[in-house]
Amino acid sequence: MRDTVTQGGLTAWLRAFAAAVARDREELTDLDAAIGDADHGSNMDRGMQAVVGKLGGLSPDEAGVGVGALLKTVGMTLVSTVGGAAGPLYGSLFLDMGKAAGEDAELTVAQWATAVEAGVRGVQARGKAELGDKTMIDALAPAAEALSAAAACGLSLADALRRTAEAAAQGMKATTPLVARKGRASYLGERSAGHQDPGATSSWLLMQAAAEALASDAPPDRPRT
Ligand SMILES: [Mg+2]
Repeated sequence: MRDTVTQGGLTAWLRAFAAAVARDREELTDLDAAIGDADHGSNMDRGMQAVVGKLGGLSPDEAGVGVGALLKTVGMTLVSTVGGAAGPLYGSLFLDMGKAAGEDAELTVAQWATAVEAGVRGVQARGKAELGDKTMIDALAPAAEALSAAAACGLSLADALRRTAEAAAQGMKATTPLVARKGRASYLGERSAGHQDPGATSSWLLMQAAAEALASDAPPDRPRT
């Protein structure tokens, strides 16, 4: 296990997230069918398959870039391949994480926490959602807060990522009784209560995948020649 976030760790994380989305694609779609337009599973799966394809197709120059550039590539890929609101929102998450991460080859836990905080602020700026609106922010904001607290306590990367995923899970579960105030689900008013939010669910999957894979010391994908 590594105590820094590297390109190899990022690649392992993104692959784990793509696998989780593919595995839970029907569940995400069912959640979205209850309070939205039943496309969240297929949208996220399409986007993450495109990201995995990008990871395998990086040129030697691109494969040598820093953590920030890789995150920005992920963000741009999601913006251009994921439909609905999720594309711009997940795109903002990764683009703003990438900007904050800069061009270092690896990030400390504290630097990673700063990048995640910036990404979550980017999602909030894009979607104008607050905590409790029954959106992905309900998983992401507590996750970012837990990560920053873990970094401030000097926890290892693996422990910090575990706490982050736990906070995301709690936030996701807390969306069930809420009445949606943003996004398509808000058109349902009171009828949106009693359903877990699909965006918060995919955001939990993202943080859970980080806990599983981001601290791994997998080498980055071999560039194609
Ligand atoms: Mg939808």
